[in-house]
Amino acid sequence: MISQDKILKDGKLHVFLLGSGGPINNDKRVASSIAVIAGGEFVLIDVGPGAYRNVDVMRLPAAKLSAIFLTHFHSDHIGDLGEANMLSWVNGREKALEIYGPEGVDQVVNGFIIAYKFDTGYRIAHHGKDTMPPEAGAPISKTIIIKDPNERELFFDRNGLKAYAFEVDHSPVKPAIGYRIEYGGRIIVITGDTIKNDNLIKHCANADILFSESISFEMLNNLAEGAKKFNLPRYAKILTDIQNYHMSPKIAAELAKEAEVKKLVFVHITPPLLKDIAEKAYLKGVSDIYDGEIILGKDCMKFRLNPK
Ligand SMILES: [Zn+2]
Ligand SMILES: [Zn+2]
Repeated sequence: MISQDKILKDGKLHVFLLGSGGPINNDKRVASSIAVIAGGEFVLIDVGPGAYRNVDVMRLPAAKLSAIFLTHFHSDHIGDLGEANMLSWVNGREKALEIYGPEGVDQVVNGFIIAYKFDTGYRIAHHGKDTMPPEAGAPISKTIIIKDPNERELFFDRNGLKAYAFEVDHSPVKPAIGYRIEYGGRIIVITGDTIKNDNLIKHCANADILFSESISFEMLNNLAEGAKKFNLPRYAKILTDIQNYHMSPKIAAELAKEAEVKKLVFVHITPPLLKDIAEKAYLKGVSDIYDGEIILGKDCMKFRLNPK
């Protein structure tokens, strides 16, 4: 398959929404993953289950994938880590893939290395070391330490692409981080999973595009009520519990307004929006709060930012 190699070095900041959904599986959206391509660098932010296939569907240059940035270790953000590593290697990646994340990332990466160890061996034995360079087979973990919890930490600075990590509040999930990425004077921010707080507003400030997580409390409460009626208390409890460590679409719109971002893209969309009417319910009231452009994220959406 011919990949879009030319976009690697065209001076623009390219963003691809590989997975716009949340943890509830459905046929409209896969779980969290965003690809960034700029200055010859190709990185993924999170790689939730089902999301890696969209790298190939969108013909992104898999062999040039150099790093993955993880926001936290919930399964809907890391499930395709093994596939991302294996398939980019099969596609011709020649250097070890770097996996950045908060403390604990070494354990997560080591677990995937063990799970894929047999397959790594099969590929080398079958195709030979020239085709499958062993040094590129296993990924390398890189722990991001945020020294001052109120500041953002520059942890990646290559060919003009700068990535900063900042602390978010997804308690009891700790640590959890968001990412601010800058290239050519352009800024994108990916919130990761979090509630809204002053620190988040500060690090989202003036972004050209804010990719904000968001789950509809109203819709989840309706589902929870329905679950109780059908005597499914466990389901009702989980649908209620998850609301205390996420933002609703209206809260995300407040964040976009207060941070004065230029565009808001909803991601981590939950519950699944299977009908047009559900999309309307999810977005209800958001444009009354934030008057910039609002986009309901969909898988395989593309964004391109020209340098300033
Ligand atoms: Zn999470
Ligand atoms: Zn999540």
